[in-house]
Amino acid sequence: MAKIQMKTPIVEMDGDEMTRILWGWIKDILILPYVDLRTEYYDLSLVKRDETEDQITIDAAEATKRLGVAVKCATITPNAQRVEEYHLKKMWKSPNGTVRRILDGTVFRKPILVKGITPYVPGWTKPIAIARHAYGDIYNSVETKVSKGDSAYLVIQDSDGNEVSRQLIHSFGTGDGIVQGIHNLDDSIRAFARSCFNYGLSEKLPVWFGAKDTISKTYDHRFKDIFNEIFEAEYKEAFDEAGLYFMYTLIDDIVARVMRSEGGMLWVCRNYDGDVMSDMVATAYGSLGMMSSVLVSPDGKYEYEAAHGTVTRHYYKYLKGEETSTNSVATIWAWTGALAKRGELDDIPELVSFAKKLEKATLDTIESGYMTGDLIPMFRSEGITPVKMNSIQFLQAIASRLEK
Ligand code: NAP
Ligand code: MG
Repeated sequence: MAKIQMKTPIVEMDGDEMTRILWGWIKDILILPYVDLRTEYYDLSLVKRDETEDQITIDAAEATKRLGVAVKCATITPNAQRVEEYHLKKMWKSPNGTVRRILDGTVFRKPILVKGITPYVPGWTKPIAIARHAYGDIYNSVETKVSKGDSAYLVIQDSDGNEVSRQLIHSFGTGDGIVQGIHNLDDSIRAFARSCFNYGLSEKLPVWFGAKDTISKTYDHRFKDIFNEIFEAEYKEAFDEAGLYFMYTLIDDIVARVMRSEGGMLWVCRNYDGDVMSDMVATAYGSLGMMSSVLVSPDGKYEYEAAHGTVTRHYYKYLKGEETSTNSVATIWAWTGALAKRGELDDIPELVSFAKKLEKATLDTIESGYMTGDLIPMFRSEGITPVKMNSIQFLQAIASRLEK
């Protein structure tokens, strides 16, 4: 059979530890036999980042801006222990953070559902995708304790230092207390809104967004207004055409609606809401090994990755020659996401359909009882006793289904 031809290369960002090992195996066993793979390769391993003073990460992000679609392996974000372990010149920043900054993107996470692994909320039969705004609010706040008798004000100055407005926050007449100042930027909220609407269109999901504009009549209301403005001006038509919708309502109403729903929407979250709710949603669906993740920029560039890390504990076992049973599903999804998006943009239907077949072969493998160790305790399916496979056996089992 002739291999599927590609037009534009995918930006390939290799990574670290166990996921780097899986990376090579996935390509060799599941992709290269079928696709004449074209990638622009960037080695984002910690060793290479150190060697290039992290320039390689910047180059990879710039390449993503140029080519539009990237696939990224999990990478080590160094801490003090890693600086010692790898004899690093510096404690380099998180590569995910660097790529996110350069692309000005938003991270979207979506669980990968399989029959046999029931979410803790049994009504959630479709995945709930979550978008978290990654700028501002309490994550860039100033705060202080205030003593009894003191007063706190919200003061705005113009660029010359003249006072524009002054509002009393509170006079602490009766006792000590605390005060906090938070901010956000219209541009950041706009970029976030565009990323969310692009993702909704790309994944064919309705978009739900909630904030507390009834209480926070300026701050939260600004989020609501910006989302509505951008939707009406730039996305309404495309959403109508795709049979999708955008819904804004209060955050507490959204929480109630999500619980009652069958899933199948993009839940757009403010920074703090996303921090909290993404952990709840991920846990409800089962495992980090079954969570896909994509960074989408406001101008429609895509970087696909797994939501988990480099699975260090398994890597040390691998180095000792011991058997590992590491779940490769999220990393496979990073590849299928990138291949399908490339196929869609370059009008190569065979590539899109290959990606879908690879996903189906992966799900079928698990549903028929063959899986990695992390899924075994969660798997319940009538008449099927799950079989634990090692990392390579699992990929080979998928390959033999794909072959069929
Ligand atoms: P981790 O790599 O996600 O692993 C934590 C634990 O979760 C593992 O030890 C394993 O549990 C389980 N696990 C995660 N993914 C799994 C998979 N695919 N299959 C089976 N089990 C899986 O997180 P970490 O240990 O906190 O971080 C390790 C390194 O990854 C760190 O250097 C961190 O900087 C980096 N990291 C990178 C990214 C990224 O690039 N996107 C994200 C997060 C962390 P058991 O040990 O119980 O089997
Ligand atoms: Mg959190």
